Amino acid sequence: MKLIYTISAPSGTGKSTLCKAILKEIPELSFSVSYTTRLQRDKEINGVDYNFVSHAEFQSMLDMEQFSEYEDVHGQFYGTLKSILEDSIMKGNPLLLELDVKGAMAIKELYPEQTLSIFVKPPSEDVLRLRLEGRGTDDKVLIKKRLTRIHMELEYGKMFDVSFINDDLETAIKELKHIILIELKGKIHEY
Ligand code: ADP
Repeated sequence: MKLIYTISAPSGTGKSTLCKAILKEIPELSFSVSYTTRLQRDKEINGVDYNFVSHAEFQSMLDMEQFSEYEDVHGQFYGTLKSILEDSIMKGNPLLLELDVKGAMAIKELYPEQTLSIFVKPPSEDVLRLRLEGRGTDDKVLIKKRLTRIHMELEYGKMFDVSFINDDLETAIKELKHIILIELKGKIHEY
């Protein structure tokens, strides 16, 4: 049975929004809080959305081999704590991870039997740009940088176990819930 659910998408597609929603829909799911060196956004809570650390702190955790995978995205580091994954597998607790495409592939390679990799597609490149602009967290330069990754990310997306489009949010939440509940059938009570 799959216990590890990785969610990836080009930046701005709606990963965070979907993760927040699905954690409310399926309370048995825990969220793996990643470590990052990137700046904390206004609405983000340290220890809940991410663990925000300095480059030096990140490097020292890296040296101590505390991460299962880590990525450098536009000069900022993102890493998944090894102990969270191992704990979840040992206890049989389902875990949700929000990861960049390469990070998700790395987790899938490490835990192929336990991982379901999920890729979320934006309806179009134009919609993606509008969402990034609408989110209001990134300046024009960073939005441009983020958009340069989309083709690489969509290519990677083809290797994921499942994918769907986040067009209408409510429909996308239902779709994600369905994907996860098929796997968790028998493990948790029906909703
Ligand atoms: P990501 O985590 O993939 O970078 P976010 O979850 O931050 O993306 O979403 C980017 C922006 O798009 C946010 O402002 C969010 O509210 C908005 N958004 C997410 N999903 C939808 C949707 N289905 N329709 C319209 N706007 C959306």
